[in-house]
Amino acid sequence: MTSLAAARATRDCVVCGAPLVTHLADWLLRCPRCGLRVSRLGEEAVTARTPGAWDEHNAAALTALRQHTATRLLDALAALRLLHETRLLDVGCGPAWFLDAAALRCQSVAGLEPDDATAAQARARGLDVSTGYFPHSAPPGPFDVVSFNDVFEHLPEPLQAAMSLAGLLSEDGRVLITAPSRRGFFYRLAEGLARCGLKAPLERLWQRGFVSPHLFYFEPASLDALFARCGYRCVRALELPSVARPGLWARIREGGRMPLPLAALIFVGCWLLIPLLHRLPADIVVRIYQRAPAP
Ligand SMILES: [Zn+2]
Repeated sequence: MTSLAAARATRDCVVCGAPLVTHLADWLLRCPRCGLRVSRLGEEAVTARTPGAWDEHNAAALTALRQHTATRLLDALAALRLLHETRLLDVGCGPAWFLDAAALRCQSVAGLEPDDATAAQARARGLDVSTGYFPHSAPPGPFDVVSFNDVFEHLPEPLQAAMSLAGLLSEDGRVLITAPSRRGFFYRLAEGLARCGLKAPLERLWQRGFVSPHLFYFEPASLDALFARCGYRCVRALELPSVARPGLWARIREGGRMPLPLAALIFVGCWLLIPLLHRLPADIVVRIYQRAPAP
């Protein structure tokens, strides 16, 4: 049995190898050594009423925040390499919000998206987007940047995904990861509420009941440790706002599992907190990796 298969069978931590323990809910696990959170939500059945990953409602609610995010991510990449000489692959590109912005600044852009209807819409707009899952359906490289925007935490085999990048990246290629952090203010608040018996906010953050729920909650240190196992080091780190006032109500209500009074309370709390969020631990972290020099 490979070490990866052994880790799956015993539910050991994919980052540090320690045995996971149940945490706050029967679908949630925690690594007592590195703090990684792991869910069993990929094993739960979904129904026809389950919200899709990229329905129009979802896309509209997040448009303003995503456009702002795309600019910040591309600026961070531009500080490391010339974008007009960059061939970029965006994994799990969804409605191609990041590809649209990257296409204006990069030499070439390509996308990979598991939902065929969403991929077809991007292709109809002239974008080079293929349908399928990473890493098996990734288009042939080399790419100078491979990006995972709110995607890495959905992958069932993150270590295997990180290892597969070696065959896709150019010599000095970079990997960009945007992911939710378990150190973030809203995540810690949701775990605190779950400890008091109020589990709906934690379920909403994990996207329980969605077609593609979160399978992991990393933090900067655990992401860095995972990529270090594959020979990469972090060369740039950013933090991003996880919420904005436009579209806030739609995002809280998305999925429809949260009781209305609780959703209203969270909406008011978030609305008031948003101007102060930059002072609180970030819920979305960005890491850019490149191959570490040979020892
Ligand atoms: Zn661990």
